[in-house]
This record gives sequence, structure tokens and C-alpha cells, in this order.
Amino acid sequence: MKKVVKFGGSSLASAEQFRKVGNIIRSDSTRKYVVPSAPGKRFAGDAKVTDMLYKCYEAAEAGEDFSGQLAAIRERYQEIIDGLELSLSLKEEFAAIEKHFRDRAGVQYAASRGEYLNGIIMSRYLDFAFVDAAEGIVFGEDGTLDSIATNRKLGELLNDLEYAVIPGFYGASADGTVHTFSRGGSDITGSLVARATKADLYENWTDVSGCLVTDPRVVENPVPIEIITYKELRELSYMGATVLHEDAIFPVRTVGIPINIRNTNRPQDKGTMIVRDTCSRSEYTITGIAGKKGFASITIEKGMMNSEIGFGRKVLQVFEENGISFEHMPSGIDTMTILAHQTEFAEHEQKVLTGIQKAVHPDSVSLEADLALIAVVGRGMKSTRGTAGRIFSALAHAHVNVKMIDQGSSELNIIIGVANDDFETAIRAIYNIFVLCRI
Ligand code: ASP
Repeated sequence: MKKVVKFGGSSLASAEQFRKVGNIIRSDSTRKYVVPSAPGKRFAGDAKVTDMLYKCYEAAEAGEDFSGQLAAIRERYQEIIDGLELSLSLKEEFAAIEKHFRDRAGVQYAASRGEYLNGIIMSRYLDFAFVDAAEGIVFGEDGTLDSIATNRKLGELLNDLEYAVIPGFYGASADGTVHTFSRGGSDITGSLVARATKADLYENWTDVSGCLVTDPRVVENPVPIEIITYKELRELSYMGATVLHEDAIFPVRTVGIPINIRNTNRPQDKGTMIVRDTCSRSEYTITGIAGKKGFASITIEKGMMNSEIGFGRKVLQVFEENGISFEHMPSGIDTMTILAHQTEFAEHEQKVLTGIQKAVHPDSVSLEADLALIAVVGRGMKSTRGTAGRIFSALAHAHVNVKMIDQGSSELNIIIGVANDDFETAIRAIYNIFVLCRI
């Protein structure tokens, strides 16, 4: 049994948090490869070290004095080192960082130092080998991940080491230039390490006990999800749920390694298992509810539209030419509606309208703004009768007007469009009927 464990910033924000992490790792000898984030916030209002690094580098790049900012970052690490009573000095590391900042080594190099330094402390604290991610996570010249080379390199580096620490969030291209993933990208590193080492499980330790059925800012104390498939999670993340970096799913998904989301502050909780497939049914028919506000709909009407070959393509081409991606496209007889992000659409509104006019000569085009989309996701929906019926009766009882319905062809989700103002009421109504009433 071999596990890869990734710890998020809040799990490593202080010496006290480091100790919890140490206990978790030492309590299970199969936790072999550790991927740390940079220190996160210690309390509400505190700064994340990654953000401090971005700011510090900005000052360096502008030719301003950044010594105070760098000293504050060093202080954050020193506090951890002292709290753990380690005999470790980061003096040389900070001298090198200062020099590279002066030499304008790049903003991605700057941001990566948060994980790099935390990795050094972690490896000393655990007495595990340190493997610099710049050696194992390979980026192409264009700054995107080279997944195949990464898998090979990481495998070569780690397979001879029984235990190791590999910092998250960054890697390097062949010429040594450091590149980072987008924010929250240590999740991706963990996933890549799990794939390369053929791990049995990827544990992702954070400050919540797994994914919740819905957003706790909308529903008070939503129940946790015990088990969810990669596909379901992808649907929920796309619609706004944010437990894991979106790109973290793909590397493990291809080889079927499960991800277990766990809480560093409550290691006794089982957390959420993210798996390729499962025959375990969710207790509530649905697995999760997520949604986003801020969509606009563009409805095009034209008599005999359905028999006009190429109509849809011509309309979508107008959106493509204006660089707007569309989210959904419900259609009726002689009508077609495109849903797009409102801000994206607003920027090109008149150009799109003129473009549609020219391309398909519609009878009318009507616009509606301030719409929200809600996705009700669940592998159980396929084999359960009446799911849609329950959703719509719950919404009707809550006086929510449904403006659009779209059931994905995988029968894994039902997407509902409502007014922005009805967003919270709608989510609560759906949550209540499935989870609280279990009807
Ligand atoms: N430290 C980076 C960030 O704040 C990456 C991560 O934590 O995953 O986004």
C-alpha cells in the first residue's frame, strides 16, 4: 500500500499545524510521498505566503526596496522552524531568492518559493528526502505542463526513494525556468505524484471534512458527500464547487487512483472519496448541487428554423468569432437560446446582435440578463424515477420560476436556469427536498 498525501496552506500555516500534519503522516507508514503547499492564513485576515511573494516580487520588479517584505516572509518560516525546534537555517536560501528577485527571475519563480521553502522544512521535520519539483514536474517552453515527461521524470526520481517530500505548485522547463500552475495548483502536483508512483490512494488534506452536498454559504451546515465519482465532481466543480483544483482530477482519473479529501483538523473524519466508479448509491439520490450567477440568454426566433440546415452552426460561429464561449443551448421548434456569461457577452453585445442578424436573418432576437444556472448532479438519477419531478415541485412550492431546463445526455445532471435573485431560494428548496425531507 502506497499513499501520496498533499497538505494545503491552512494545514501548514504554523508550527502547530505542522505538528498535526507530522502526527498524521507518522501514524501511517504507507503515507510515503508528501506534497506541501506554502503556508496559508493562520487566522482570518492573515496573509498567505504566496500572496506575500507576489507582492514582494512586484516591488522588486518595479525597482522598489523589497527588503522589508522579504524579511516578513522569512519571519513566517522562522516562526515555524522555531516552533518545531528544528536546527535549520534558511539564510542561504533567502540570499539566493533576494538575488534572483533583483535579477528579475520572473513572477512564477517568485511564487514557487513558498512551496519550495515549506518543502525544505517539511523534509527536515519528517526526516524524509527532499525532491525539488523543478526536477520532476516538467513544463514545455510554452509554459504548460508536459504530462508525459513529468510522469517519466517523477517516476525516475521517486521510485528509488521510500519516503520523500516534493513541493507543490511548480515545476520547470528544460532550460531551468520555473513555472507554476494556476492558484491552488499544489493539488495538481499531488495528483501527478500519485500517478507517477502508482499510488493506491491520493489523500488531499485540507481544512474541511470533504466535499459538501452544497455551498455552506447558501445552506447552513450542508451534509458531507461520502463518495463521489470523478465525473460528478467535474460537473460540480465546473458549476462553482471549489474543493479541489479542477485540473487535479485528470492525472489520477486516467489510471483510476481514488482521491480522499480529508481534514487536518479532524483526522478522525473519513472525508470524501472521489472514485472512478462505484456501485454505492448516494443516500439522497442526488450527490450535489452547485451553481453560478451572472448569465445572459439570447433567444433567436425564426419561422421554419428547424428545416434550415446550418442554422445552429451559423449562430454559434458569431459567438466564436467574438471569442464568447457558450454554456448551454436549449432549443425549441423555431427557437434557439444561447446562454453565455453576462460579462463576456456584454462586452461584445452589439457586434453579436449584428452578426446574428447578418448570418441568419431571424424574425426576432430577445435578450434576458441576470440569470443563474444551478446543476443538480447525481449518478443515482439515472435509475431513479421522478427526480426531475421532485426538483420542479420543490421549486414551484418555493415560488421560483424556472426559466430553462437542460438534462445532460449522461443523465448525470439536470441544469436549471432561474433569475439571479432566486438563486439561493432555489438551491435551498432542492437541498431540502432531497436531503432534509429525503422525499
Ligand atoms: N500556494 C499556492 C496558492 O496559494 C498553491 C497552492 O496552495 O496549492 O495558490
